[in-house]
Amino acid sequence: MRIYNTLTREKEEFAPIRPGKAGIYCCGPTVYNLIHVGNARPMVVFDVLRRHLEAGGLDVTFVQNFTDIDDKVIDKAVREGVPFSEIARRYIEEYYTDAHGLGVRDADIAPRATDCVAQILSLIQILYDKGFAYTTPDGVYYRVNKFPDYGKLSRQPLADLEEGARVEISSGKESPMDFALWKLAKPGEPSWPSPWGEGRPGWHIECSAMAGDRLGQTLDIHCGGQDLIFPHHENEIAQSEAAHGAPLARHWMHNGFLSLDNRKMSKSLGNIFTVREAANAYGYDAIRYFLLSAHYRSPLNYSADSLEQSRAALSRLKNTEGRLVFLRQNATGTPSAGEEAFLATLPGYKARFDAALDDDLNTADALGVLFEMIREINAQTAGNPSRALADACLRALREQADVLGLLYTVGAAAGANALDDETEALIEKRQAARAARDFAEADRIRDQLKTLGILLEDTPQGVKWRREETV
Ligand code: AMP
Ligand code: ZN
Repeated sequence: MRIYNTLTREKEEFAPIRPGKAGIYCCGPTVYNLIHVGNARPMVVFDVLRRHLEAGGLDVTFVQNFTDIDDKVIDKAVREGVPFSEIARRYIEEYYTDAHGLGVRDADIAPRATDCVAQILSLIQILYDKGFAYTTPDGVYYRVNKFPDYGKLSRQPLADLEEGARVEISSGKESPMDFALWKLAKPGEPSWPSPWGEGRPGWHIECSAMAGDRLGQTLDIHCGGQDLIFPHHENEIAQSEAAHGAPLARHWMHNGFLSLDNRKMSKSLGNIFTVREAANAYGYDAIRYFLLSAHYRSPLNYSADSLEQSRAALSRLKNTEGRLVFLRQNATGTPSAGEEAFLATLPGYKARFDAALDDDLNTADALGVLFEMIREINAQTAGNPSRALADACLRALREQADVLGLLYTVGAAAGANALDDETEALIEKRQAARAARDFAEADRIRDQLKTLGILLEDTPQGVKWRREETV
């Protein structure tokens, strides 16, 4: 696989440090509110990265942290009059609700900053002993000027960085670029003991400490959104590489922004749709599809139209799957030379699908191949195919869909292929009406189902439902 490396600004062959294994660290959410659709972009695209590497035979260890202590978490706790840990607990739970809805697999290791204070302190101690850290009246700071490679990821000249950082006022810092490793507690704030006084970790140090502790000094892939390049990842590099003398990561991957009206979707601008809102309107899996419809480094604009189109495309995929499941059990055709010839073309689609993902995770092209195959499958199975053909097509379809994580069951409300109980009961009621030759009632139920977006077809093999595919 070739991966665009933000560090070198080039596509490079992915070369894991230990053959057959890949250690991936992805910066996770600060848990103080519901995630928005922009936050879901790294979750979904790097979930596909993980699935694709695994499908290629690699043993992947995926680590994603929770920032459970930070100014925003503390502010919210103060406003609500509850401990910060209650805010963190609640929004970690909400995070999992959305992540599971989106079909994002759980990280193998999901450390919380507050569970890693010992590792954080020992890393700060190393930096302190090596002269990379110093104390001020409000905490311990990183001495940026001592790290000559500072700026290598964001490729900004130090002078520019210094200029940009000047707005931040803090007493006792040697340089405006220096950043906090440990923040001394103000009265009433949650705190942990340390050699420098009661306090809490800065944001950047938590990732350096957790990544090093769980995956070793050099990660195979470090990923996150593009806004994390500076200062967060630049600072992680400064901390980890100064402490260990080894590169923090071989490959740096950053997803582009999701925007709304062409401005980055962000909490601070207030132009957000939460994943929860969007899922209620379009289904979680339509959001997932939408986020995979563009290359992960390209900008992507959120709109009702795109989400509707994603939902319609997903319906095509699900309908083909549903039809193949049905045909695999009910078709009565016999295998033919024509079927054989078509079967022989299926591995070619898979090869092109893999090639698209091998090219810097091009999910847009991979989806293109999948839908090309779906069109052919629909044409080839339109009559009365053999069960063997339906079965082979179904397996080919699921093989690709599984890497993209597109066909999954998380309950009907979340857009799964299964019908909800009410719809299922209606279909049965209509069957019963038809059997009793009450055609008026059968037609009435068919119309009712249509308003729910479910179309019924009376096929030679029996009655079959499918979802409406138009937007
Ligand atoms: P945060 O909680 O703001 O640190 O964001 C969590 C993750 O979402 C990070 O990887 C961010 O880079 C990413 N992110 C935030 N906003 C957007 C956006 N509008 N588009 C894409 N990624 C985003
Ligand atoms: Zn991080």
